[in-house]
Amino acid sequence: VGEFSLIQRYFERPAKSRQDKHTALSIGDDAAVVRVPHNHQLVLTIDTLVEGRHFPVATDPRCIAYKSLAVNVSDLAAMAATPAWFLLSLTLPDVDDDFLSRFSAGLFEAADEFGIHLIGGDTCKGPLSISIQATGYVPMNGYITRANARIGDRIFVSGNIGTAALGLAVIEGKLEIDSELKKLSVQALNQPRPRIDMIPLLRQFASAAIDLSDGLIGDLQHILEQSGVGATLDQSRLPVLDIIREQDLYPLALNGGDDYQILFTVRESEVEAVAKFSVTENIDITEIGVICETGYTMQTSSELIDLSQQRGFDHFVEG
Ligand code: ADP
Ligand code: MG
Repeated sequence: VGEFSLIQRYFERPAKSRQDKHTALSIGDDAAVVRVPHNHQLVLTIDTLVEGRHFPVATDPRCIAYKSLAVNVSDLAAMAATPAWFLLSLTLPDVDDDFLSRFSAGLFEAADEFGIHLIGGDTCKGPLSISIQATGYVPMNGYITRANARIGDRIFVSGNIGTAALGLAVIEGKLEIDSELKKLSVQALNQPRPRIDMIPLLRQFASAAIDLSDGLIGDLQHILEQSGVGATLDQSRLPVLDIIREQDLYPLALNGGDDYQILFTVRESEVEAVAKFSVTENIDITEIGVICETGYTMQTSSELIDLSQQRGFDHFVEG
């Protein structure tokens, strides 16, 4: 198959499922055309996943595709942007029908789940690599940045953390756990669920937000640096699996990446309201610390640890 029929076969969907009131022109022309909702701003992001770097060589193509889209949508959610469109740049070593059918199934499974539409892309030959550019929208100036945390704000995180890193440790043979927990943690690693359900809460209550891709310590550090503040975390409050708490595997939750939960801050005066909102809307969030003037520490059961010198995952430092 040539490039053209490859795109048609695997990435163009029947007209009905392509219909989207915000898309004027989709795959098939020189470029796509979108309609920006009235009084909104566009929010744009891009992420690349490279074989052997972001996923092991033998990873199920369905998971590769799902995760490639999930990490982009997670960035949009962290900005409080509603996902709308994405472009897919695919570099393939060859045209492998089995790979492409599974890749395309995972991609559209994710796209349907997140309510985002594939409207174009590019395809070329080379070592396997997937770039996805995703665009969302926010009501005018309704986006949330990393830069607006203030002294006294409380620090919250969605879901639980360290689960994906637990899955990775198991795959790498560094840990043995029971099969149910293994399934759950490997699933968290391979099929992260970006927290689009958090968007209304963030728009209403967050002063700053970031999605957790490189580990809690490093990602919170970004908020602290950009907001010019410090923080103290309370280890006993971290939402982690029992196994992490019981076996003291906290580094998985603190330094492990790939959680794709949302870390955010809330003004002290809004804490009660956010707690109420999370109950009525059934959104799992946990308060884990407080923003202070300077310093970056975590209280454990026995000591106050300095986090300021610990770093998150950095491809160019550790790789
Ligand atoms: P051009 O040479 O003008 O860049 P292409 O042949 O690359 O055109 O693409 C033709 C059409 O197919 C365009 O609408 C483009 O957005 C779309 N397309 C190409 N590759 C992909 C892909 N991997 N996924 C989705 N759409 C794609
Ligand atoms: Mg092209």
